[in-house]
Amino acid sequence: MDKLIITAAITGSRNTRESSSHIPYTPEEIVQSSIECWNAGAAVVHIHVRDPDSGLGVQDIELFRQVVEPLREKTDLIVNLTTSGITGRNLPFEDRLKSLELKPELASFDAGSINLGGGVFINPPDFLDLAAESMNRLGVKPEIEVFDTGMITTALAMRDQGKLADPLYFQFVLGTPFGVSAKPKSLLHLTEIIPENSIWSVTGIGRAHLPMSMLALAMGGHIRLGMEDNLYYSRGVLASSNARFVERVVRIANESERKIASPAEARAMLGLSK
Ligand code: ZN
Repeated sequence: MDKLIITAAITGSRNTRESSSHIPYTPEEIVQSSIECWNAGAAVVHIHVRDPDSGLGVQDIELFRQVVEPLREKTDLIVNLTTSGITGRNLPFEDRLKSLELKPELASFDAGSINLGGGVFINPPDFLDLAAESMNRLGVKPEIEVFDTGMITTALAMRDQGKLADPLYFQFVLGTPFGVSAKPKSLLHLTEIIPENSIWSVTGIGRAHLPMSMLALAMGGHIRLGMEDNLYYSRGVLASSNARFVERVVRIANESERKIASPAEARAMLGLSK
């Protein structure tokens, strides 16, 4: 079985300190939490940045820079920058793609629209074309985020049109309010309809976090975890840091004899060249 790639989704755009005081907000906090996750075994960090006043996600290139530069200096982490900014708020296309200017190795590619965050998270065909073209040009590999089954249909059509290149890298985000449910059968179905040479990772939102990780461990998939998707370490107990999620999965992986991929090994598996 392939070594396990752990992605830590450090902060996201919508969970605020009203829900958990442990969420990293500032660039310094995001860097610190990323380094802790790296030390614990994460190969990839998925990064959003936050508006210092509202605490919500923004696509501010300077804030991204304050995260990306120290991470490149101090770690060999694979940096994955968001292109959603804040789901459901639908920033202008150009703003959403600003993070690509920093040429991250990976960037999120939300392969379709869906009801989310009290609104519609809009990812129309012209945005997807622009995102794919921009990532192609800048040498950024799309991490195809799948909230619903049709997003795989979309990604496969774009691959057939030569807009997305093999091997496709899918991030299944299961258990959002109106997307694919976080059930074993859902995950099985998704993994069966992607091309065989694809690489997939999964995260479960909220209480689905750990069960989805366990399934990925057993199935040979990869795992995303972190406070973007879940704030609770166990029932009623907030996670004190993102690293605690990483440490738990590493412990379980060790027990189940699934080896953890280093950033260099994850790069080779994902076809990234640093
Ligand atoms: Zn994200």
